[in-house]
Amino acid sequence: CGIVGVLGDHEASPLLVEALGRLEYRGYDSAGIATVNDGGLARRRAVGKLVNLSDLLVHEPLPGKAGIGHTRWATHGAPSVANAHPHQAGRVAVVHNGIIENYRALRAELAGLGQPPRTDTDTETVALLAQHYLETGLSPREAARQTLARLEGAFALLFLFDGEDDLLIAARRGSPLAVGYGEGEMFVGSDAIALAPLTTRITYLDEGDMAIVTRAGATFFDEDGHQVGREVKTIEPGA
Ligand code: GLU
Repeated sequence: CGIVGVLGDHEASPLLVEALGRLEYRGYDSAGIATVNDGGLARRRAVGKLVNLSDLLVHEPLPGKAGIGHTRWATHGAPSVANAHPHQAGRVAVVHNGIIENYRALRAELAGLGQPPRTDTDTETVALLAQHYLETGLSPREAARQTLARLEGAFALLFLFDGEDDLLIAARRGSPLAVGYGEGEMFVGSDAIALAPLTTRITYLDEGDMAIVTRAGATFFDEDGHQVGREVKTIEPGA
């Protein structure tokens, strides 16, 4: 339902939880974040109000300057910790808005590859597919590209990879997603409200776009894989 991402120069988890708070108005049944740090890729997730996630983070902090977060409004699979985003498979974590229509066929295919699902969600198939492509030797960017090529439905996705603390990969097909520009920091959000206190400069992904985000900036590719320029818009601070 709500997506946030940060490549920061401070700890990511407080920023992520704050940004998720600004997306509460959209409604949600559970929330979670993932970060990448020297120890690897790790997640914290909780059912119910965002305060449950904040409480969990007090007891089990999540270090790392790069991270993604999500407030979930369940469409596939009951609201539970196991079904909450981010979903992780091996070196990949992903947050997702919308629906992967062909998830049943993908689950069957992944089970055949020795990657059976552990959750009831459509989203988990995205993480499993991306991990599968990484295992074939592809780079995170190529693995994400191949994964996106396999998906049907309307969605927004944000990927985070273990060992890559300067990379977020965002994709838009039917659900909005925007990149926010900071000073040596970069942000991703499912709407401008999530990003408004963090930056006044944002770029909305166009339909079909994939964005490669690093602290140095963002590069956009259209649905045919061609690099494209996308307009930077100025938004009101705190809008
Ligand atoms: N279909 C996904 C799920 O049920 C994402 C729902 C959402 O947009 O929050 O987990």
